[in-house]
Amino acid sequence: MNFELDDVTQAVREAARRFSDEQLAPHYQAREAAGRFDRDLLLEMGGLGLIAADLPEEFGGIGAPGLTQGVVMEEIGRGDMNIGYVQLLSSLIGGVLVRYAPKALAAEMLPEIASGRLLPALGLTEPRGGTDAANLQLRARRDGDDWLLSGEKASISCANQADAILVAARTGAPDSGARGVTAFWVPLDAPGISRSAYDDLGSLSVGRGSVWFDEVRVPDAQRVGDEGMGFIRVMQGFDYSRALIALQCLGAARASLDETWPYTIERHAFGAPLASYQGVSFPLAEADAQVRAARLLAYECLWLRDNGQPHTKEAAMVKWMGPKVSVDAIHQCLLTHGHLGYSRDLPHQQRLRDVMGLEIGDGTAQVSKLIIARETVGRAAVQYARTK
Ligand SMILES: Cc1cc2nc3c(=O)[nH]c(=O)nc-3n(C[C@H](O)[C@H](O)[C@H](O)COP(=O)(O)OP(=O)(O)OC[C@H]3O[C@@H](n4cnc5c(N)ncnc54)[C@H](O)[C@@H]3O)c2cc1C
Repeated sequence: MNFELDDVTQAVREAARRFSDEQLAPHYQAREAAGRFDRDLLLEMGGLGLIAADLPEEFGGIGAPGLTQGVVMEEIGRGDMNIGYVQLLSSLIGGVLVRYAPKALAAEMLPEIASGRLLPALGLTEPRGGTDAANLQLRARRDGDDWLLSGEKASISCANQADAILVAARTGAPDSGARGVTAFWVPLDAPGISRSAYDDLGSLSVGRGSVWFDEVRVPDAQRVGDEGMGFIRVMQGFDYSRALIALQCLGAARASLDETWPYTIERHAFGAPLASYQGVSFPLAEADAQVRAARLLAYECLWLRDNGQPHTKEAAMVKWMGPKVSVDAIHQCLLTHGHLGYSRDLPHQQRLRDVMGLEIGDGTAQVSKLIIARETVGRAAVQYARTK
């Protein structure tokens, strides 16, 4: 077993770390107030190859392994985990477009995504629920060479600022389940689209919201994958995105820990540094160990993916564990700063609010554990859900 990153990944990590330290971390809190991303910043990241480095070179990436993209995500997460939504959506959606979009659509859109000129969104969740995602209702019906889409997508990251959306729509009968769903690529300035931004607890610069489709006309050339296969194709990308999300959150936790350890030496109580009290140092030591263990699980998951091996179970494990241990670690860092930690002057409260969103986004702890059980003991683990 070799724990050393290869030269390319190491160089990409250094570039991402420099960018994160210099451009992201200093303005993390100001970006929350802006409520959206600075598009020039996205262009800069694209120019540095920090968006979707995993795309093939012909589409604007560098053909990097998933592990390399995971390392980028971790570094971006340290500076501003909200910016990591750009990497997350671009890699997840970019991967689906590479494999299943018509060639002309892929050739046109992917370089735009990798350069930071086009911010994509993913439309799966609907108002009636996201865990039972295959049971979606947004309708697409044929009209000559086009499709007409009607319905609502809810809880869409970057709804207020994305340029296009990969949307899952029902093309089969209402009860056709996962195999009656087709994916479409829809520009978000198309006639019939309207959108909103939610008043969220955190990740305010991401702009999560709803997207409404009112008879939106989409040419068949913008269908991504075969009819009836849209849900399955999009979900196949989730084993990858789950590991990336874990590293996005763990990066934020790492930043809080790296700021908090030195504080326990600087700050004194009862004539001694805080670090001398095991009631202070042990919870931090535990958090540090848990963050490191979850990070290794994420790396293992990406390594399995890059080597063509099954990794659904590891992805579900780390999608649950990554955000969970990050929330716990950041909470501990906040508490260690005492009253100062509770202030908006320090970033721990913002990291805590931001990371909490990804305990839900892309699948909750419960659905992750269902997948772990299903991968371990088979369909018996989901018998209840299937028969109700
Ligand atoms: C920050 C954030 C970003 C997001 N970004 C996107 C995005 O870009 N695109 C998109 O399509 N969606 C997005 N989502 C939506 C997200 O994927 C859903 O919120 C998630 O899948 C859960 O669905 P739900 O919120 O409707 O909860 P529900 O499905 O209503 O579930 C409610 C609760 O019940 C539990 N539950 C449900 N079924 C079971 C079961 N069988 N066994 C045990 N527990 C169960 C759930 O775990 C949850 O705790 C995002 C959400 C968040 C918070």
